[in-house]
Order: sequence, then structure tokens, then C-alpha cells
Amino acid sequence: MVTDLNPWYRAAACSGTDPELFHPDSESPAAQQDAKELCAACPVRETCLDEALAEEAGLGLTSRFGIRGGMSRRQRVREDARRRGVTPAPKRRHASTKPKCTKFMPKLTPEQREEMRRLWTDEGFTQIALSRRFGVAPKTVRRTLGLEP
Ligand code: SF4
Repeated sequence: MVTDLNPWYRAAACSGTDPELFHPDSESPAAQQDAKELCAACPVRETCLDEALAEEAGLGLTSRFGIRGGMSRRQRVREDARRRGVTPAPKRRHASTKPKCTKFMPKLTPEQREEMRRLWTDEGFTQIALSRRFGVAPKTVRRTLGLEP
């Protein structure tokens, strides 16, 4: 769901609809169906999705809300990772357990390593912000920054 701060809002298919439609109580496909159908026919869906991903850059699942650009928050996390060329870590069976090995953790390209160092030194990103932005473990961030062997 967009707000009227967006200049392209007047063309949005959801303009004037109840915002609750885009924030269903459940994340089941059935609960999201009406909103996604509206998005599918929306002439500014791509713009809406691009803006959502830009606004949410570096945020985790719990900091994303609702359906935007035709995608649920889980789909946007995956789309964000895909656009950044990062393979998301596989789902864990128990959220509280750490993976036993880092074999399946995403690997950073040399360009991503360079970008991470730039954000650290020039823009003051914290280690946790870098971890979220690049979808890697904090240990990988520390190693990339040369803070840990
Ligand atoms: S894509 Fe969906 S949320 Fe975005 S403007 Fe269109 S109808 Fe609204």
C-alpha cells in the first residue's frame, strides 16, 4: 500500500482502497490474495516495488510490513537478495539455533566486499547494519572489515 507522499500514487490501483487490505492478519496466500490481485493489475506496480525495496534496503523480515508492489514482505526479502546478487541463507528448522556450518551462508563478491568496506569507513554503517544489508553473518562482516582473522 502506498501513501500519498508518492508522486505516482494517483495512478495506483490501490488509491482510495482500505489500507487494511494490504495488511492482512495472516500471511497465508488466501489472506493476501485480494491485495495481490489488485497489485497485479496496477499500472505502477514496478515503480511501487522498486520504491518499497529502496525504502526497506538492509531491513530484515520483521521490519517490513504489508504487501507492496504485489509482493509480501517475505517475497520482498527474497527479491531484495536476488537483486543484490546474494543467495539468502536456507530456512532454519529452529530460529534459535545457529547453522552448524557456514557452507550455505551467502558469499560476497569482491565488489560487495569493497562496497561493505566503503559503507563502514565512509558512511558509518554499523556491523549489524552491514550484516543485514548484505544478508551475511556478523562474523563475515568482521572478517571482511579486517576486524577478525
Ligand atoms: S502495486 Fe499494489 S501496493 Fe503498489 S501501488 Fe499498485 S496496487 Fe498499490
